[in-house]
Amino acid sequence: MEKIDDRVYVNKEMSSAERTQILLFVTESEKKIIKYYGKATTFPEYFFCSTEECYKSFGFTTSRAQSFGSYRCLFSPRGITVPIISHEWSHVELYSRISSAWTMRHIPQWFDEGLAVTVSEEPTQSEKQWQYLVDSNISRPTREELLGYKTLREWLNAVHHFGEDLNKERKSKGELAVAPLYTTAGHEVRQWFAKVDTKGLVSFIDRMKNGESFDSAYTGVNLETK
Ligand SMILES: [Zn+2]
Repeated sequence: MEKIDDRVYVNKEMSSAERTQILLFVTESEKKIIKYYGKATTFPEYFFCSTEECYKSFGFTTSRAQSFGSYRCLFSPRGITVPIISHEWSHVELYSRISSAWTMRHIPQWFDEGLAVTVSEEPTQSEKQWQYLVDSNISRPTREELLGYKTLREWLNAVHHFGEDLNKERKSKGELAVAPLYTTAGHEVRQWFAKVDTKGLVSFIDRMKNGESFDSAYTGVNLETK
């Protein structure tokens, strides 16, 4: 990989036009982190692959992007977009602000993902897309089911259950690709954020760091704003 900016690396084969675009994308993504979190306290190292071979060389195949703990993100050629960079950056930002792996374990997977979806403003997981799922009666988790996906394993099982990994088949049949689980998680956290705003998110993080339970912190900041 070649370093093209402080903390930004790309594969050697990448064109100069792509390199320029990536630097713009990172700047745009930082603006989204600032919009939701108030400021960016993390500047992860970003590794961008313009070829699938490059992505495979890191041991990954089907995913669009990966984040690693509190400071590194890797992107496949399918993952080089402002929403996907912002999504991964949100994971890094939350992890870093929570600052303890132990506390992070008390944050359910659905919240971490729902917040990343909210921050990313990913069009395929938007509020409009959620309405499409509702109107088209596409299978998606109930709120109770969603709030039950606490561990990574439960989350991944649900991704499979709601057919997010069947999108290749859907596309080949001429149907729209959908992300029922991510979209539903985004819908839940987007509504919460609309009420509590950046102030509430920061307060939520403080409550978690002070040892409050997730349920109490999540509903508590909601009450603070009333
Ligand atoms: Zn994610």
